[in-house]
Amino acid sequence: MMPIDLIAFDADDTLWENEQHYTAALEKLCTLLAPFANAEHVRKALTEADIHNLQYYGYGIKAYTLTMLETASRIANNQLTGEIVDAILEEGKRMFAEPIVVFEHVVETLECLPKYKPLMLITRGEIFEQEHRIQRSGLAKYFTYIEIVRTKSQEIYRQVLAKYHISPQRFVMIGNSLKSDILPVVALGGRAVYIPIPNPWQHDVVENPDWNSFDHIEHIGLLPNLLQPFLD
Ligand SMILES: [Mg+2]
Repeated sequence: MMPIDLIAFDADDTLWENEQHYTAALEKLCTLLAPFANAEHVRKALTEADIHNLQYYGYGIKAYTLTMLETASRIANNQLTGEIVDAILEEGKRMFAEPIVVFEHVVETLECLPKYKPLMLITRGEIFEQEHRIQRSGLAKYFTYIEIVRTKSQEIYRQVLAKYHISPQRFVMIGNSLKSDILPVVALGGRAVYIPIPNPWQHDVVENPDWNSFDHIEHIGLLPNLLQPFLD
């Protein structure tokens, strides 16, 4: 068995809660736009615009705030009030200021992974936002390397591994997104460990992945045992 030289973690929804702040903002938008459309219509419009706008805005809270404004403007059809605009902007700031809730088992797991194998955090999004979150999580001290990338494609992983002179075969990525954390790494020849969350972002859902090409655990506390054979 090929030993592992570098253990990398996704951050949002792998180490701490994230998706639920977006869901809460979506519900808030439904309430604000209730005079114009029903909640189901607002949810569908925002989800579609969110995915469509990735190509313009990338990932994160600022992007989501712009997309909420765009969706509101369309749905209110020229009747959008300053009050609703303000409430949406406030919602974006609320998401940014939300305390970081680290998942159960995360700290023990990071502490018990062998110190001679460096840990890397690879997170996608906007630098200002991600640094703010990493710093407030209290987890930065566990990571030798932190990479904030604009997207998580096979090419981006290839570039990150090349930068640290790590061969994909000696690399493992742990994350909650099949699309961003697991499949691109597997495609490169790396190892990946999938830890699903209950209500994933629609963009991250992949139909019929090859379940034999990666590992799958229920929670992060099970990781040290799973990786043990590859860490000696
Ligand atoms: Mg994630």
